[in-house]
Amino acid sequence: IAEKELSKDEVIKAIKENTLFSWNPTEAAANKALVMEKGDGVYFYDINGKKYIDFNSQAMCSNLGHTVPEEVIKAIDDQLRSAAYAYPCAIVTPVKAKLSMLLADIFPGDINHFFYTSGGAESNETAMRMARLFTGRHKILARYRSYHGATLGAMTLTGDPRRWNSEPGASGVVHFMDPYPYSFKWGDNEEEITEMSLKYLRETISYEGPNKIAAIFIESVTGTNGILKPPKGYLEGIRKICDETGILMVCDEVMNGFGRTGQMFGFMNSEGVIPDIVTMAKGINGAYLPLGAVGCRDHVADYFMKNPIGIGSTYNSHPVTLASAYAALQYFLKNGVLDNVQKLEPVLKKHLEELKSRHPTVKGYRSLGLFGTVELQKNSKGEPFVGYNGPAHPAMGQLQEDMVKNGLYTLLRWSSFFTNPPLTINEKELKEGFEILDKCLTNLDKHFEK
Ligand code: PLP
Repeated sequence: IAEKELSKDEVIKAIKENTLFSWNPTEAAANKALVMEKGDGVYFYDINGKKYIDFNSQAMCSNLGHTVPEEVIKAIDDQLRSAAYAYPCAIVTPVKAKLSMLLADIFPGDINHFFYTSGGAESNETAMRMARLFTGRHKILARYRSYHGATLGAMTLTGDPRRWNSEPGASGVVHFMDPYPYSFKWGDNEEEITEMSLKYLRETISYEGPNKIAAIFIESVTGTNGILKPPKGYLEGIRKICDETGILMVCDEVMNGFGRTGQMFGFMNSEGVIPDIVTMAKGINGAYLPLGAVGCRDHVADYFMKNPIGIGSTYNSHPVTLASAYAALQYFLKNGVLDNVQKLEPVLKKHLEELKSRHPTVKGYRSLGLFGTVELQKNSKGEPFVGYNGPAHPAMGQLQEDMVKNGLYTLLRWSSFFTNPPLTINEKELKEGFEILDKCLTNLDKHFEK
């Protein structure tokens, strides 16, 4: 059976009979799933030849689009033919040296040392281990409006409801609220919001004991919990608190690293902030192969020159994945991908503003770089179709169906959807995506209650 070409129905049947889906109940997820056959630039095609524009870069990760640059294919092919695998505890490869030198160059400050994993969650697990060993402290602070990955430690760091299924989770993690809680405001302007949320953080730290806390984990710009850029002074404030207390500042750049926010890294949207540890994945190689990494500053790395890091796995520093990242980053730099994001940032904003002006169901939007989200409302009181974690609303299901029907793929979450196309998109393609969104929202407007 595996030898013959499968029809869409045969694929879905086998997916139901022989696989399990991540996150969602398998049967319902399989029934709704698109069967991808091939990718092309910012588009992909399903098994029946239907074309979709990718407005979420899959999991905010296919940052260079669906056509793999020739130089990346060649680098992968060359690496497979020369050294396909190397035992990470004892054997190093030239590509590991080259990628590490390149990353040290790309990162600001003295983030000069890198540890390679298989993805974002594992990078956060590694960063937790490093912070605990380095400080000799156990507790870790992370925020409610956050996602850090699905392994036990990373899931415990996560503050959003995805954490609930893995509770009680790992020990020692304490959550705090960020500058933008879901249902109330810390203040009326950025200054007040920063001041109040930092006061609250300081108080949390004093209750927990500053010398018991190893690290504060934050997404530099919050991703799936709402594309939330920290207010002015907030990351700077966390940096200051960390300097005063010896707590390590860990920035999770898994989603917003490598250009997504219009800066090379999300933390670079805040002035002069250099975290002690940075975690990354996704954009490091456009997700062409599974790869994550942890970067750290010299003072943290110094400790691990003489002390074991206490973590490792078979696929750490896999040479083929490293080759893909080295070639993908060279491509990123040589082809001005960051410039493209900066050029299109106002264009994306303009389209979002237009949606807002045309559709009563659009409550608002947030975006920076090519990282955007649209918040929807079901009535003039500003109530969402779906509140925090549900329950589902048929209008949102209909919206998703309309998007698929009209050839646009993106992620919907509660009462919002994302506009995160590949960073290589052009103006014409961006416009095309927004024309589809406009059509779908015209349908959604029928559900608006005045
Ligand atoms: N951290 C952030 C901010 C993420 O958005 C994600 C995934 O979406 C992760 C960590 C986990 O990465 P992975 O799915 O590669 O384990």
